[in-house]
Amino acid sequence: TIRTRFAPSPTGLLHIGNARAALFNFLFARHHGGKFLLRIEDTDRERSTQQAVDVIFAGLEWMGITPDEAPVFQSSREARHREVALELLEKGLAYKCFCTPEELKEMREDAVKNGKPPRYNGLWRDRDPAEAPPGAPYAVRIKAPREGETTITDLVQGEVRVANAELDDMIILRSDGTPTYQHAVVVDDHDMAITHVLRGDDHLTNTFRQAMIYRAMGWDLPRFGHLPLIHGPDGAKLSKRHGAQSVVEFRDMGYLPEALCNYLLRLGWGHGDAEILSREEQIKLFDIDGVGRAASRMDYAKLEHINAVWLRQADDERLTDDVMERLKSVEGVRVDETTRARVLALMPGLKDRARTLVELAENAAFLGRNVPLPLNQKAEKLLTPEARAMLVELARDLAAISPFTPESIDAALRRFAENGGYKLGQVAQPVRAAVTGSNSSPGIDATLFALGRDETLARLGAALH
Ligand code: GLU
Repeated sequence: TIRTRFAPSPTGLLHIGNARAALFNFLFARHHGGKFLLRIEDTDRERSTQQAVDVIFAGLEWMGITPDEAPVFQSSREARHREVALELLEKGLAYKCFCTPEELKEMREDAVKNGKPPRYNGLWRDRDPAEAPPGAPYAVRIKAPREGETTITDLVQGEVRVANAELDDMIILRSDGTPTYQHAVVVDDHDMAITHVLRGDDHLTNTFRQAMIYRAMGWDLPRFGHLPLIHGPDGAKLSKRHGAQSVVEFRDMGYLPEALCNYLLRLGWGHGDAEILSREEQIKLFDIDGVGRAASRMDYAKLEHINAVWLRQADDERLTDDVMERLKSVEGVRVDETTRARVLALMPGLKDRARTLVELAENAAFLGRNVPLPLNQKAEKLLTPEARAMLVELARDLAAISPFTPESIDAALRRFAENGGYKLGQVAQPVRAAVTGSNSSPGIDATLFALGRDETLARLGAALH
């Protein structure tokens, strides 16, 4: 059965490129009825932090990308990594290298002087370890093949080859006994019975190096699929100056996890012109042959569009909870049950008009403000002396209708406009300015209903002074 994994290093944020790799591995496993695993590559003790581990867990959970088995912490497997390295040593497929840091530095400098890549020259490959000073520290290096070439049939890139002369005798076990990254990845992928490795194409050269270890151990290689990286809109590698890069940033900017996943999937994978896909559809349709070879460009406008679609489909209670959370940091907005009830009541209209949860919260904020409301410039402009006079009369009508429902409010406004010889907008806009403090909101009937009669009248009254 198919087993995939996501193997992030907990050294910082959860980058959306990595999040996309996680999604592809998850969908690929689900599509084929296999298992998706998570491995935290925390062997770099200095750079790995618990906080970064928590960020990965929280980010994956937020996106609904959940592993099928308990996560594996690479650091807990060091003894096993060592065991495999020593096995290779015993079989003569790896050797002890006693070079000192100074010698290695010199070696690199010499290579560069001769116009060669700064590589290890195989000094101890055929030398007798007995020549080393007693007790001298050593690293374990794998014997790289020297002739021929290595070919990988990549699921995305097709056949990729490298001349074996390009590969040097890389270290698998450092002189302090810790495994190197390349070595740990291979041992773990093998032991976790990983069948498919989908990862960023920045790992392609690692794959050739890792292949050496598989072959030396006589292990089957997993199938590899190297995913093109995500670039910025200008085609350059995605970086800070392009905008958000981490999953948390996108969440804070008001993107729904379904929308972000939907967007990341569509970025570099296609199925006809299907744009909005539920998780079930994604699982049903995803396969590796839909992944393109070209780097994808981040298109923030498209992401916004997809988010707007998902927002309209999202549950009102859930959106209300999110908005209330965001309103906590807005000054002058009461975050209480009354506000919540108003936000929930107006949510169908609010979510139709917003592209992000941030916008949604901004547009809902007026519901939790106290009178007198702050008015924006356009609202100020709408509240002319004539408009104010009109609102005094309209307030009397609104005080009298019973029950106070969207239908009765709408009927009262229409009647009032007709009797006064106004267009409906001439009435609705000053009302909107007075009760929302701005010139745009969902339908005025729904808005007044969400506020309730008392609050509506209080706001109209306050706007007259
Ligand atoms: N830990 C590696 C990274 O974060 C991923 C290794 C892999 O997927 O093989 O880039």
